[in-house]
Amino acid sequence: MALPIRQQLGLRPIINVSGTMTGLGASIVVSEAVEAITAVLPEFVEISDLQRKASAVIARLCGSEAGFVTASCSAGITLSVAACMTGSDLSAIERLPDTTGLKNEVLIQTGHMVGYGAPVEQGIRLAGAGVVPVGQATHVAGYQLAGAITERTAAAVYVISHHAVQYGMLPLKQFCDIAHSKGVPVIVDAASEYDLRGFLEAGADIALYSSHKFLGGPTGGIVAGSKDLVRATYLQNNGIGRGMKVGKEGMVGTIAALTAWEKRDHEGIRRREKAALDLWLQRLNGRPGVVVTIDPDPTHNPLDRLKVSVEPQAAHITAWDLADAMSRGTPPIIVRDHEVEHGYFYLDPCNLHEGEETVVADRLTEELDKARASNEIIASDLGERLARREASITAWPD
Ligand SMILES: *Cc1c(COP(=O)(O)O)cnc(C)c1O
Repeated sequence: MALPIRQQLGLRPIINVSGTMTGLGASIVVSEAVEAITAVLPEFVEISDLQRKASAVIARLCGSEAGFVTASCSAGITLSVAACMTGSDLSAIERLPDTTGLKNEVLIQTGHMVGYGAPVEQGIRLAGAGVVPVGQATHVAGYQLAGAITERTAAAVYVISHHAVQYGMLPLKQFCDIAHSKGVPVIVDAASEYDLRGFLEAGADIALYSSHKFLGGPTGGIVAGSKDLVRATYLQNNGIGRGMKVGKEGMVGTIAALTAWEKRDHEGIRRREKAALDLWLQRLNGRPGVVVTIDPDPTHNPLDRLKVSVEPQAAHITAWDLADAMSRGTPPIIVRDHEVEHGYFYLDPCNLHEGEETVVADRLTEELDKARASNEIIASDLGERLARREASITAWPD
């Protein structure tokens, strides 16, 4: 029998309790998508017809008039911004990123100017648009959005993400009402959201999702919205969208993942995730210097995570050193450590294979036991850790 693929390629057999991360291979692609992709790869198809089929499926699930599949949600931001500038004018589409003669300003609340591996605002600028931040990092009022709209305004972008500031922003409905009262379309980046309908229902003209996140599809982006704007977004494939193209496998895989989503046993998945959280809670509870709680998802996806707070004096290790020990161990386990400087990390149960929750519990207790047995507190310098990470990014491919 052939070796498992990661072994063949000499890759570490990581366990992902970090969440759905591009840098870790996104999500576990559902078997329906894997089968559909395998079936279509050797065949020819008429791509615009395949995208028409995708449009119907996206429309059914998202409650939109139309939709199509692009390379990523990030590509969807760039292409939909482009569409708001050019409409269906093919000559304007070919001229981008030159926006001479077009409306070319895009509004975004300052607290939404986040990064997901790349800056959201760069996705806007890639189309040739200029970014106009609205309000302050933690406060945006309706008059600030209304006052930022000019005759140059092409679109307004709204980001739903755990990275974004979670208070003081305009609610989506109010954001849409103000933008629409001045004829400005609203694009919602909902890359990681489970709710396929609510943002369009709240008034968004375009909603964007990643195929490869909670849906368990292949790498891709879903553009859903009004027919005119989806069409203008699709037509960008004749211009700047060429470098963001998705193949037949991405379209077919996304259709299959969406169809599977309709039939998925969501309750059963929640029960499995809850069982993993309960196991971790039970195994870690009461350990010296460790406090565990089950935390809901910050953007209200139906997903809980285990928050593991580590008090170094009692645990004899810092949260970040524990996270690093997990990722260096056998097997390597990648925890969710975006906020680790505050002394905690999360365990995300949404990407586990059968039995991996036990491995995670065993490895964590093993590292905690080892730290307790050490005479010194394991506490590396956070600044040096950040510098090491940065150096390792720029050192690629070494
Ligand atoms: C993941 C993410 C993106 C990027 O999505 P891709 O499909 O990977 O390009 C954009 N916005 C938010 C809020 C995200 O979480």
